[in-house]
Amino acid sequence: MKESRTLGTRKTIAIVAHDKKKKDVIEWAMHNKTALARHDLISTGTTGKLLEENLDRPVKKLLSGPLGGDQQIGAMIAEGKIDILIFFWDPMEAQPHDSDVKALLRLGVAWNILLACDRTTADFIFTSPLMNTDYKIDVTDYNSYLNRKVE
Ligand code: PGA
Repeated sequence: MKESRTLGTRKTIAIVAHDKKKKDVIEWAMHNKTALARHDLISTGTTGKLLEENLDRPVKKLLSGPLGGDQQIGAMIAEGKIDILIFFWDPMEAQPHDSDVKALLRLGVAWNILLACDRTTADFIFTSPLMNTDYKIDVTDYNSYLNRKVE
């Protein structure tokens, strides 16, 4: 049986940006301020602080990414608490928490949430008519994995 989860019109959006991408993510968020006002925002510590200052609205702030914030967001994705991940990661610089970056991207795909790693994709998501309707996402049925025979 296929599992599913319905995304309502008000979504929980996680926003994360590496240091050299923070300017880009703030610019994007300010450009989309009206659209973002209809949703709940959650963010890693430093990105969240900048978003709050620039958007003049509350953002739920977790730990800073390298200190566990990426993993906190990953756990929330696995628990079905995040609908969209806007993750402006830096393709030109190795991060001290590269393993967490990879884990976060992996969980976004494992749970089939909306995932934008650049402004173009984020713009397409936010202009999609599907943003304004209830939308059922398929969630992979992991029961065969959970019930696997372990020798
Ligand atoms: P930060 O974390 O928002 O606390 O800088 C971003 C990241 O995951 O690197």
